[in-house]
Amino acid sequence: MGENMRFSSAELERYDRQIRIKSLGKSGQSKLKKARVMVAGAGGLGCPASLYLVAAGMGYVAIVDKETVELSNLNRQVLHWGDDVGRLKSVSTVEKLRQLNPEVKVEAVPENITSNNARKLVSGFTVVVDGLDNWRTRFILNKACVKEKVPFVHAGIYSLYGQITTILPGKGPCLQCILPKTPPEEEKFPVLGATAGILGLLEALETIKIITGLGEPLVGRMLHFDGETVGFQEIRVERRRDCPVCGSKREA
Ligand SMILES: [Zn+2]
Repeated sequence: MGENMRFSSAELERYDRQIRIKSLGKSGQSKLKKARVMVAGAGGLGCPASLYLVAAGMGYVAIVDKETVELSNLNRQVLHWGDDVGRLKSVSTVEKLRQLNPEVKVEAVPENITSNNARKLVSGFTVVVDGLDNWRTRFILNKACVKEKVPFVHAGIYSLYGQITTILPGKGPCLQCILPKTPPEEEKFPVLGATAGILGLLEALETIKIITGLGEPLVGRMLHFDGETVGFQEIRVERRRDCPVCGSKREA
């Protein structure tokens, strides 16, 4: 991965402060420019995650979401503004991201993620970011990423709490290893926007680390955030040999 991409003088100026990070540099910026990132869900997590990913200069970002903006989304889904109510979230997000950074190719994909299309959707991406609000689709996406060997950054939020982990297929546990039983679904659960923002930005950070090789990703570690005390707690998580998605001793 020695060869650096060519940057315009505008790009060098735009990314100057992060190129100054010694362990990132121009070679890290080149990796970001080559990266293809899928953000699944343009909601409370997907908005802040995609905002900072596009600001950092990915090559291509796809925003996958079929829903339309509702007034009750606006406390946390910060790329959707008053006039966007009733519009497609993917389109609303892409519009803002293009204004922020026209160097990045950003595309709206107004589709639902299902077990039929998930593998095709994630194929070819460098990283997939979990911006979803339900466990059923998260497990579909986890499985698709494991099968296609695409790194998957998971986060979830509830009220003032959040959790995040990074799944590198073949290198650590997948989401199904960590949560063998699907947690209960709740359609309209409480969320404070600031909590979603914190977890979404941690997802952007993890994504940038995976792409550039910077630091140590949250592989085999689930980080829990408690907004009431502003405490972070890390729990070790392990791969299960009998995991139906990634285990070596899968039952047929
Ligand atoms: Zn697994």
